[in-house]
Amino acid sequence: MIVYSCHGAAKEVTGSCHLVRCGGRSVLIDCGLFQGGHELEQANAGPFGFDPAGIDALLLTHAHLDHCGRIPRLVREGFRGRILATAATRELARVVLVDAAGLQEEEARRQQRIGRRRDEAPAEPLYTLDDAFHAFEFFDDDVRYGEPVAVAEGIGARFLDAGHILGSASILLELDDGGTRRSVLFSGDLGSPGRPILRDPLPAPEADYVVMETTYGDRRHRSLPDSVAELHQAVRETVGRHGNVIVPTFALERAQEVLYHLHRGMLDGAIPPHVQVFLDSPMAISATEIFRRHPECFDQALLDELHRGDPFAMPGLHMTRETAESMAINGVEGGAVILAGSGMCNGGRIRHHLKHNLWRERSSVVFVGYAAEGTLARRIIDGADNVRIFNEDIRVRAQVWTINGFSAHADQQALLDWLGPQQRRKVFLVHGEYERGLQAMAQCLAQRGIATHMPGMHEPILLD
Ligand SMILES: [Zn+2]
Ligand SMILES: [Zn+2]
Repeated sequence: MIVYSCHGAAKEVTGSCHLVRCGGRSVLIDCGLFQGGHELEQANAGPFGFDPAGIDALLLTHAHLDHCGRIPRLVREGFRGRILATAATRELARVVLVDAAGLQEEEARRQQRIGRRRDEAPAEPLYTLDDAFHAFEFFDDDVRYGEPVAVAEGIGARFLDAGHILGSASILLELDDGGTRRSVLFSGDLGSPGRPILRDPLPAPEADYVVMETTYGDRRHRSLPDSVAELHQAVRETVGRHGNVIVPTFALERAQEVLYHLHRGMLDGAIPPHVQVFLDSPMAISATEIFRRHPECFDQALLDELHRGDPFAMPGLHMTRETAESMAINGVEGGAVILAGSGMCNGGRIRHHLKHNLWRERSSVVFVGYAAEGTLARRIIDGADNVRIFNEDIRVRAQVWTINGFSAHADQQALLDWLGPQQRRKVFLVHGEYERGLQAMAQCLAQRGIATHMPGMHEPILLD
């Protein structure tokens, strides 16, 4: 019997976790964190819907927290199998999980302080740094794109380029339970074609079943060249009037992509060569070092450019890992581009830079990523006159740019192109908002005569 079940990202975006049972073996694809709001985050401590000790292997599509963020908990609760991933994913996941564990411990300490005052039982972190380090011991030999991997008896896999972030993969499972043979393709998160740095996603190969993400199943992205031109214009104009450009950015992929576009802008004369660039995020700095170590993930255009020098560095680049270095940036009154996290401005060093620049007419804030409802980024984007940062009311006088074309996710057309016109037994739609990406994609595929299903949480589905 071959059975598939979804244990996260079922009719929602985050928490990706899929289980396939074949014969007596069990394989997980991803084990991610639920993110976005208190209620969802409660689910991280809830039941997995399977016994972690009974899993033979975990195949990891990529290092984003919503795909790897529950791994330390999985190990703490008995998982003893192998974790299989590409080398870049393994290295990035280490950075991401150490950071996440640190935040979990910090949050638990905060809750404990509140709890003591209320005489409540002490709060426990979802997992500790020790749990995260222990989990890394289960990573097996690195997987290479395209090469067959023997996962367990009757289960083989191939990791295929997904073009989403460094090391990201779609995973094709070949299953044989001693009588029935089935193939299941997990899209992972899919990137947009035509972006720099990474190769495009590999079109979906033949497979009986496909489990597909639908994050932007209802949308079309702006073209990338327009967005890059807008970024260059924002820098040119702001630096021209002696202001600073503040770029709230995610540490993985987006930060490196922005560095790449700034570097290209300088080489091509689209922005002045004397601009100082600060990468003010320890996690983004670590991620950038990992990028440099993995040219096997680069597309041909970037490989051809490598002789021109480091694609993620320019003469005026400062990587500020230490807190003291970060604070020194407060003294820079103009002529600088400052990249810092978090991307949605709800934490991290970006809040200091906003405090020092939002009230200044000469400066700019450039948003290059998604900003959820309720975040500081969203309030600024929506045109707030004042925002509160570190208990201070700050006037918003800086110019605000919202540039939408840098998405790391395929849009509707790119998802359809990836899937292709082939008939499948069924396409399972996951990793999308029900009212948006999921329903829109279900309609698109219905028009093409392709049968779909949106799995419910923990729902067992027989792949007969
Ligand atoms: Zn992702
Ligand atoms: Zn995701």
